[in-house]
Amino acid sequence: MALRIIVHEPDEVLHQIAKEVPKITPNIQKLLTDMADTMYHAEGVGLAAPQIGILKRVIVVDVGDEHGLIEMVNPVILSAEGEQLGPEGCLSIPGINGDVLRHQKITVKGLDRNGREITVEAEDFLARAFQHEIDHLNGVLFTEIAERVYEVPREGRE
Ligand SMILES: [Zn+2]
Repeated sequence: MALRIIVHEPDEVLHQIAKEVPKITPNIQKLLTDMADTMYHAEGVGLAAPQIGILKRVIVVDVGDEHGLIEMVNPVILSAEGEQLGPEGCLSIPGINGDVLRHQKITVKGLDRNGREITVEAEDFLARAFQHEIDHLNGVLFTEIAERVYEVPREGRE
């Protein structure tokens, strides 16, 4: 198990746009493994590569539902519907939560660790987690789009 160091606000890397991954290499597969290890170790439900200082479009998500761990490279939201307003946190902004308006349901497409195209239909909290992580790839933090932010005990992090 290889843990990476999670970058915190106000590190500039969190505000930059991540680059598409042109090809799945062993390096990218190792990155996915390390990101999942790091996410579980930090008790988060999602992690984007910029959060460990790597500006590549790579995310991992596991909200504890039947989908289990989802690894995705170059994720793109194909369609979105509905709205949900709910609390959100971030491993890069410990101790802060915010109420964020997100789509209720989205369809996301990307590549798995073998370079195969995968499509995920995500609803509710899983949809929220995907939107949060994809925002990270675009240098957007939840605190920038939240309706309000507030201090909390360390829980509900992404
Ligand atoms: Zn986050």
